[in-house]
Amino acid sequence: MKNSVLAALFLAGFWAALALLSLGRSPAELPAGTADFAEGAESPAPSPPGDLPAEETARGTTPPEPGFDEGFLLPVLAEGELVSMELHDYLTGVLLAEMPLSFPEEALKAQAVASRTYALRRYEHRRHETAAVCTASGCCQGWRDPAAAAPADRALAEAAVRATDGLVIRCGGALIEATFFACSGGRTEDAAAVWGGDLPYLRAVDSPGEEGAAHFTDETRIPLGEFRAALEALDGAVVFPEALGGWVGSVSYTPGGGVAEMELGGRPFTGKQLRKCFGLRSTAFTLELCVDEAVFTTRGWGHRVGMSQSGAAAMAREGADYAEILKWYYQGVRVEPFE
Ligand SMILES: [Zn+2]
Repeated sequence: MKNSVLAALFLAGFWAALALLSLGRSPAELPAGTADFAEGAESPAPSPPGDLPAEETARGTTPPEPGFDEGFLLPVLAEGELVSMELHDYLTGVLLAEMPLSFPEEALKAQAVASRTYALRRYEHRRHETAAVCTASGCCQGWRDPAAAAPADRALAEAAVRATDGLVIRCGGALIEATFFACSGGRTEDAAAVWGGDLPYLRAVDSPGEEGAAHFTDETRIPLGEFRAALEALDGAVVFPEALGGWVGSVSYTPGGGVAEMELGGRPFTGKQLRKCFGLRSTAFTLELCVDEAVFTTRGWGHRVGMSQSGAAAMAREGADYAEILKWYYQGVRVEPFE
């Protein structure tokens, strides 16, 4: 039997956060999401369109009047090459990369509006010298060439983009930082807790219905010696007493239920530091120390700020439309045409 010491928290929420690739960025430069679904391993096999339009139908026998998206040329850095891309094609590729096409139509539409908002905000506030966005999911938004996608997938992505043509999210007249992520684990996180800058529309909200989502909870096991060595490398002043019960001190939490700070070996570590150090899915974790290993149990996946994609799917299944989904995850915003 394991001589285990319960070292952390059965806290009120369990939730948490961190932006894997965004430490030190100002709120004006937030990454859209995470590589999460874009990594592909998590993407469920897309289901056939069912009652959704086939590609021919979606496009119509006669092409529709060019809309906003088709008339807007976005400078995109695609694998190091600067490409001028119609916003419509860019967004179709983003949907293909960033959200499983098996998700409900209203969730796909919410993603299309969030991704359009993100891209246009980057167009106004450049991160790259020559381009508005790149196609790296960890930096801007992931993108897959629609021409290389299965026709059924492309039709679903394209339909969501077309159905929301030109729509963006604004708060106080300005385009918002429409960040998103795969799964919150039940509650999203404050932007301030992750990036340090407070944005009124990026505050923690409950995100029910995600229980069945991939990575709602996960376990990360680290051999105890490795765990200790990693912390010693982070802070040379740590002291670990013989009894495991003395390794963990006080813990504080963020508004979204993430670990704000955890005392280990008598030294404070932020949840973000620990997530990065041990490759945790989120900062919403509990820690249990056993004789031979440290066991982190995480909730959710990603920085957990903004729209939860799994939560958006859950809301859509409950009958919410894309605007209701967006106004839930981005509080106090308007969904309106760009022009
Ligand atoms: Zn980028």
